Amino acid sequence: MKKQHLLLCFLVIFTANLSHAQEKTESSSDSQKESNGVFVAAKKIKDSLYYLTYRTNNVVVFLGRDYTILIDGFDAKAAPQALNAAGRLSLNPVRFLVNTHHHKDHTGGNEYYSNSGVTVMCHRQTYSNIWNDANAQELEKIKDLKQRFIAQQKGQAKESAEFNAKIEKLQKGGLEQDLSYPAFLFGDEFSMNFVNESIEVKHMRAAHTSGDVVMYFKNNNVLATGDLFFNGKYPYIDEDMGGNIDNYIAALDTLAKMCNNDTVIVPGHGPLASKSDLESYKRMLEYTQKGVQMDYLLGKSLEEVLANKAITANFDAQGYGNGYVKTQDYVSMLYRAAEKRYPRKK
Ligand SMILES: [Zn+2]
Ligand SMILES: [Zn+2]
Repeated sequence: MKKQHLLLCFLVIFTANLSHAQEKTESSSDSQKESNGVFVAAKKIKDSLYYLTYRTNNVVVFLGRDYTILIDGFDAKAAPQALNAAGRLSLNPVRFLVNTHHHKDHTGGNEYYSNSGVTVMCHRQTYSNIWNDANAQELEKIKDLKQRFIAQQKGQAKESAEFNAKIEKLQKGGLEQDLSYPAFLFGDEFSMNFVNESIEVKHMRAAHTSGDVVMYFKNNNVLATGDLFFNGKYPYIDEDMGGNIDNYIAALDTLAKMCNNDTVIVPGHGPLASKSDLESYKRMLEYTQKGVQMDYLLGKSLEEVLANKAITANFDAQGYGNGYVKTQDYVSMLYRAAEKRYPRKK
């Protein structure tokens, strides 16, 4: 009882500070500078569930009886504020962080959390994607070095061959580096059972990336979708990392089946949503995908399809094209998907 009272006082003070901070950040550019441009806000979803927002990103905070769990953790810049904000919601420690997929705006803070005593958990594929991303940078540096050397050594075949052998070795070495923090890996489905909640974690077939997971909080009836839902904006589909528009649409079908009319959906980006929001998002994807595909099958070039504003006009008017993915990039992605599905004879 005493503990609850203390917590209540704490929350009241925290909420008051929070709204004060929000006013400050919104009204003065000086305070923007003070917080290094980072402003993390905490909002309540249900009794034991909160969500944090930073830019358009959402992080879900589950307050368990003994410890707190985060779903995603923003990028490296916002992680300290996010951990601070999540820590203030309960007297219990933040113990686990589950990544929904590998993108840096969701996992960039992993190392910070890990160094702060939080165990990072992710799907096997997500781990491998984070690892590939980290090593790709290293590889780029080596390739750049190689190009410069080749330019210098033009005409000196022996030296070039020796250097190439060295590079091959380095490339392999670079790709065998470990991540700078430990991670707890899981497979396609697993559950976390608590006294008042059971959380189901599910891997979806290559949709936004090859490693997307969603989390359903059974008792609270809350679904965290990660980037399988960019509420109100065109989605980003990471084609280089196994993303695919057909699977993305199929994933939304699966998600809709997990929901009822009371389910609160926390998208990876954008405001909270309902099942019917999710369904109309899926219809938007289907409508635009079919429109682009039809134009493609009529023999139109990408430039001609981009010029056909009718396909996206209705959604552009609602602001779908002014998020991370602009209309042009979204339509181009749909066009590439149509090319893949119906290759033109050359
Ligand atoms: Zn993403
Ligand atoms: Zn994202």
